Amino acid sequence: MQIKVCMPDFQKNKTEVKNENRKRHVGFKPAFDCGTHRNGLCSDGQCRRKNTNISSITEKLTIIKIGDGISEAMPETTEKSSLDIPDSIEKYDLFTLDIQKMRDLLISDKKIPVTIDGVSYSMNLSEMEVNAPDVKSQTYSYVGNLEDTKDSEVVLTISERVLIARINVNGIDYVIESTPDKSKSGRIIHYSHRSTDVKDDGSSLNTEEDYLAHKYYSDEELKQRDDEAKIEEERINSKSSTKSLTPVRIRVFTDNQWISDEPDWLAKAQDIIAELNNQFQRSDIFIRFYAHYDTSKASALSSDSQHITSPCDSIIRQVPIEYLNSNHEDIALYLGGYDSSYIGIAATYGYDCPNPLQRRYAWVQMKDDPSSYDGVHEDRAKATIHEIGHIFDADHQQGEQSSGQGESYNRAYQWTENLIFTKQTVMWTPILKSNTFEVSSNDYHGDYYCNNALRIYETKNIVASYAN
Ligand SMILES: [Zn+2]
Repeated sequence: MQIKVCMPDFQKNKTEVKNENRKRHVGFKPAFDCGTHRNGLCSDGQCRRKNTNISSITEKLTIIKIGDGISEAMPETTEKSSLDIPDSIEKYDLFTLDIQKMRDLLISDKKIPVTIDGVSYSMNLSEMEVNAPDVKSQTYSYVGNLEDTKDSEVVLTISERVLIARINVNGIDYVIESTPDKSKSGRIIHYSHRSTDVKDDGSSLNTEEDYLAHKYYSDEELKQRDDEAKIEEERINSKSSTKSLTPVRIRVFTDNQWISDEPDWLAKAQDIIAELNNQFQRSDIFIRFYAHYDTSKASALSSDSQHITSPCDSIIRQVPIEYLNSNHEDIALYLGGYDSSYIGIAATYGYDCPNPLQRRYAWVQMKDDPSSYDGVHEDRAKATIHEIGHIFDADHQQGEQSSGQGESYNRAYQWTENLIFTKQTVMWTPILKSNTFEVSSNDYHGDYYCNNALRIYETKNIVASYAN
């Protein structure tokens, strides 16, 4: 197998190479496309019409209502600007929550009734381990599904003040998020929205400047790569009896801006890690992240000279490798509170970086961006899973792979559901609204050519020993 290398520093001017080596991630494209046009680039309006049809059916329905009197609808009397809800979310519902009642139900292991677009369900949830054992927190994460509902999924985090949740059913993500505002009763105002109610309000940033090499393969080369992939998969499967959940320690940083923007930044950060664990704990990857949350660098990150222009460099500068090692942390994740002027909304130097001191850092923007990236929960979580994927050497789809990429199977995957929706796995670039949270795999959405999970499985022990 070819050894993967980044473009070495001596090939070009150092500053230029530094930027080229970094994985850039750009804005989102529409949630809907027609399935016949590539990458959601539909010019005939078909997609928009389909979107409108679905919206007209759900227009008058309450998006999410949590039963037992837990959620209480609010009239939309609050100014949208104080709620910090992106303009691209065309429809949303405001409500408050009896958080304590919800916590009591969760702790007592009771099923939670929920009505979604007028249909009643019951949430079947189990607590998910997200934080390092020494983290003392009253914030809990849960994962599960809707009872008796095929292909449903729930990821939820609850603190003493806020609830963050994503319920996927019928191919739509229904999301609950907190706002910075409070009702007259003093409860934090939450809002819910559907992934289908998000419009494309900004252009996707052009990927032409992406440093990644564009390579096309002959039929003979493709056959060779297919054969290699089968051999790799069989090799991994033959070792399946020795599979074990690999612990990876991740330290989550933020800056003063995100702390002040959020009613409870810790709950949102923990929910992002819960989404990360929900993907990486799958049996074909088998990684569990253990998180610490660190505010000790918040002021330093806010005053770093590159906190707007290149936040990935800010985290590398402000959190020296010795700091990570002394805290026994494998990875540093910076959830940045600023609308950066950087070309993308997330970045990492990744697994193949020639400088080992830079491989362990990732930055993801939490703020709404002028591009179609909205900085809402699902955007943030997908971008985070994508960047952490690069830290384990997962790569993009064919044609957008790193020039040094040597694994034939290490690619993102695209498919069409119900002859309508084109979807992509999480490593697809640019990160589209139609990207899912899912890592490509021969066991899920993917094939021998598109098996990012296999590559993550192969590199996990190396990443898990970074701090040792
Ligand atoms: Zn990428």
